[in-house]
Amino acid sequence: MTSIAENLARVREQIARAAAKAGSVADGIALVAITKTHPAEKVREAIEAGQTLFGESRVQEARAKIRELPSNLHWHFVGHLQKNKIRHALPLFEMIHSIDSLGLAQEMNRIAEEDGMHPRVLLEVNVAGEGSKFGFSPDKLHDQMESLLALPRLSIEGLMTIPPLAEKAEASRKYFVGLRELRDAYEKEFDLRLPQLSMGMTNDFPIAVEEGATLVRVGTAIFGERSKTRRE
Ligand SMILES: *Cc1c(COP(=O)(O)O)cnc(C)c1O
Repeated sequence: MTSIAENLARVREQIARAAAKAGSVADGIALVAITKTHPAEKVREAIEAGQTLFGESRVQEARAKIRELPSNLHWHFVGHLQKNKIRHALPLFEMIHSIDSLGLAQEMNRIAEEDGMHPRVLLEVNVAGEGSKFGFSPDKLHDQMESLLALPRLSIEGLMTIPPLAEKAEASRKYFVGLRELRDAYEKEFDLRLPQLSMGMTNDFPIAVEEGATLVRVGTAIFGERSKTRRE
């Protein structure tokens, strides 16, 4: 087994164990292997180990990589999306995890209409309310939910969050709980279904699974450290 295959096996096992601990099954939890900064050869090793769902956070890098790889893979976009990259992103990605403003959502709706697409998206929530972070604050999302739901081309399937950086994984738990509770509240108030919760990265994904994640985004634990010189 290559080290990437071993890493994947370990991550999958940790997901299964965390799901069992929470009394759920790992079947409902998708592992998005985040390949940003890593070359196509490394992605191939993961494919050989059975992984087919991958995530990228920059459109240009993703486009080059996706072209080099088999066409039967599933790609999700997880980074901040600039409006001028929407048209390139839509045909590449099956899901956009990171709708972080009403303006971005409206522009995506417009382009999707022009290009005949129906993108599946998640709304990124800045649960901790950190000023420097992308994402809706819970208050803003509440205020703008009706406007988001009025965009006919977007299929809004759930919420995503990136908790503040912390040394201890346990520190993320309250933000994961917060995201799940927000989801439950919005479902009730706006009478809709938001089944997907995208939460958990290398340092805290088992805790995210315990708190109800349906999509975990794991890079480093699978592919190793990224070089620090590249912007993410
Ligand atoms: C890079 C990235 C990840 C993966 O991070 P790791 O800590 O390497 O697992 C997950 N989500 C987003 C949005 C990212 O940009």
